[in-house]
Amino acid sequence: MILSAVLGFWLAYAPIYFSEDPPEKPTNIILVICDGMGLSQIALAEYLTRPPSSLAQMEVVGLQKTHSANNLETDSAASGTAMSCGVKTFNAGLGVDADSQAVASIMDLASEKGMKTGFVVTSSVVHATPAAFYAHVYSRAAYEAIAAQLVESGIDVFAGGGERYFVDRYADDTNLLQVLEDRNYVVLTSDRTVGNNLKNIDPEHKIALFTAYEDPERASMGRKYFPDVAIQAIEALEKRADKGYFLMIEASQIDWAAHANSPEWLALEMQDAYDMLDKVLEKVREDENTLLIVTADHECGYMSLTGKRSPRVKFHTKVHSSQMVPVFATGPGAEEFLGIYENTAIFDKMKKLLGL
Ligand code: MG
Ligand code: ZN
Repeated sequence: MILSAVLGFWLAYAPIYFSEDPPEKPTNIILVICDGMGLSQIALAEYLTRPPSSLAQMEVVGLQKTHSANNLETDSAASGTAMSCGVKTFNAGLGVDADSQAVASIMDLASEKGMKTGFVVTSSVVHATPAAFYAHVYSRAAYEAIAAQLVESGIDVFAGGGERYFVDRYADDTNLLQVLEDRNYVVLTSDRTVGNNLKNIDPEHKIALFTAYEDPERASMGRKYFPDVAIQAIEALEKRADKGYFLMIEASQIDWAAHANSPEWLALEMQDAYDMLDKVLEKVREDENTLLIVTADHECGYMSLTGKRSPRVKFHTKVHSSQMVPVFATGPGAEEFLGIYENTAIFDKMKKLLGL
């Protein structure tokens, strides 16, 4: 009688008690953006990879809607801005809302809170996707202005191509690499012959690693740095961060391969992204404080797969599509990313989880 009363009490109230536990919060967030990667691009990589892939090991899958403020077919500037700043803007707008007003990005908010910030890309560092996280301009084509804003941003660790926008400028004669050094960066230029491990750089310094003078080369032409530098950036941020970090990693050229309608190039860019993800997921699993999110900014090429035994890639356009793209998540707070939502919700969810 007493036992059943106690049990009844426990059964009635225990679920409420447990449901009021605060949700798990991450200390760090790694946001991976695979530019132009829709479900067919993923399907291709899955058919070419021994299962389970890293993506298949991530517990949470959701879908995001990618349209911009003025177009069902977004570009990478508007979709990058949606994820970085939480606003829909016009195609080509970076870090500004639909009225061209500057909006604080997740990196701006994170560094204000004392978190460390970084990005690693396989495009130039001033290209639309990374620039959405630190620049505020109405045209993604303003590369030299964007480079100047990167220098001002104070991002702790960044890596990618595009060194020339810092030293060979039409707008002025400023040597922005020198300005970076004046601002406490160790600058590693693309002409160096010896590889550097970012992990070993004195944590008193910020890090700017230029992987190419122009755009980095294609994976199919021998580009190899991406998986290793992604890990080195995580380790460099771990050394510097006492209040957590936010890192954006972009597999930039999946999109370029799809624009070019090149299945071979695309397959190797997907392979490079998967190699990076294998390492990053392994790294994230070593601690319990890091939320890993993997998504795309839009699909490119209206791609589909045909074939009987092995997949054959078929492109239907040379531009972006309006398809929804998947969001994979693992780590504390991952369950926030279940369901169907706007791309701007990625910002909202990350902001909430980091308490910014
Ligand atoms: Mg991009
Ligand atoms: Zn594109």
